[in-house]
Amino acid sequence: MDNISRRNVLAASVAGGLFAAATAAEAQSPNQIPQPSRAPGVGGTDPGPRNLMRDRQNPDILNPPSTDHGTLPNLRFSFSDSHVRQESGGWTRQITERELGISRNIAGVNMRLNAGGVRELHWHKEAEWAYMLYGSARITAIDAQGRYFIDDVGIGDLWYFPGGIPHSIQGLGPDGCEFLLVFDSGGFDEDSTFLLSDWFKHTPNDVLGKNFGVAASLFGHTPDPSELYIFKAPVPGPLSSDQISGAQPVPQTFSHRMLAQEPIRTKSGTVRITDSSNFPASKTIAAALVEIAPGGLRELHWHPNTDEWQYYIEGQGRMGVFASAGQARTFDYQAGDVGYVPYAMGHYVENTGDTPLRFLEMFKSSYYADLSLNQWLALTPPKLVEAHLKLDATVMSALQKEKHPIVPF
Ligand code: MN
Ligand code: MN
Repeated sequence: MDNISRRNVLAASVAGGLFAAATAAEAQSPNQIPQPSRAPGVGGTDPGPRNLMRDRQNPDILNPPSTDHGTLPNLRFSFSDSHVRQESGGWTRQITERELGISRNIAGVNMRLNAGGVRELHWHKEAEWAYMLYGSARITAIDAQGRYFIDDVGIGDLWYFPGGIPHSIQGLGPDGCEFLLVFDSGGFDEDSTFLLSDWFKHTPNDVLGKNFGVAASLFGHTPDPSELYIFKAPVPGPLSSDQISGAQPVPQTFSHRMLAQEPIRTKSGTVRITDSSNFPASKTIAAALVEIAPGGLRELHWHPNTDEWQYYIEGQGRMGVFASAGQARTFDYQAGDVGYVPYAMGHYVENTGDTPLRFLEMFKSSYYADLSLNQWLALTPPKLVEAHLKLDATVMSALQKEKHPIVPF
């Protein structure tokens, strides 16, 4: 089984062979109703009640590999299971530690801004990292030294606003934008940010007048914050028309072209890594954008610094997580899902579909780091490795001193 790809097994089983050799998830054809029975004589049928669509989406939950064992926390949550807040300028939904309990140090928000739609000027305690998924947006901010920032971002671009830095986002033409926001605390709440209109609403008019050096009577008609937050506005003109004349720009940009980076490339995929070494503003979030071709595998590895928070952009895959003490669990993912790997746990991600699998790995850290199982064994005295695993000479000679994040390489 190890040498046969899942798709080959599926093809063979559809053709009428191999049922006994394959796991049930692989052996059952897409037209059959999947049953919780990984092989004849194990498990049984599920007469119901059942949610067949979810069972089909989670073949490795319904029929876990026989190597899975023990109890792990839930390591997947889909944005499709998140409440959608709808406003005049677009919508938003979030996955925080309230939705995905293990996710204590990162929270994510998925937001759509229609053309001209504005995410109201605001700030929050957490740092904000973002990846543009669709369309284009204009982002603005200032820093504590009174310098300003403005830029237009498109698909594959990032931004990073440190905690406490005020900012805005606006969808541009022709169809606005959709993006992923990542915050460096699992307790973040997109509905509890410091909103410009909220502060005006909760400050006496005479204080506002004194603050801005004008008459108090000029205030008192601020729209209710519930009317703003994500609101409709005209599409702005070109970027040049929105520059602030006579002001200093920030010395270190808050945006970055991640997709334009030259990737690490193997035969089976690409990896682009962005952290404070190539995007200096991003001091608390490090990220990797991974693409795995059908049949490819993000190799067995782990991270020596912190938890991994994942967002699946395209395709479908499964992740196996090894939690020590004989515990291992496999989860399935598709576009719009969030995955999680607790600190230091070993894992792999396999493309189980017929199209490229693309996802983001994110870390609450200034730097990206991973350890490769393959490289570890290659850089350890062979006799010592053999004394542990009794590996065949073919395996020993296949070990790679160079890291190959996506295999086959
Ligand atoms: Mn924000
Ligand atoms: Mn990883």
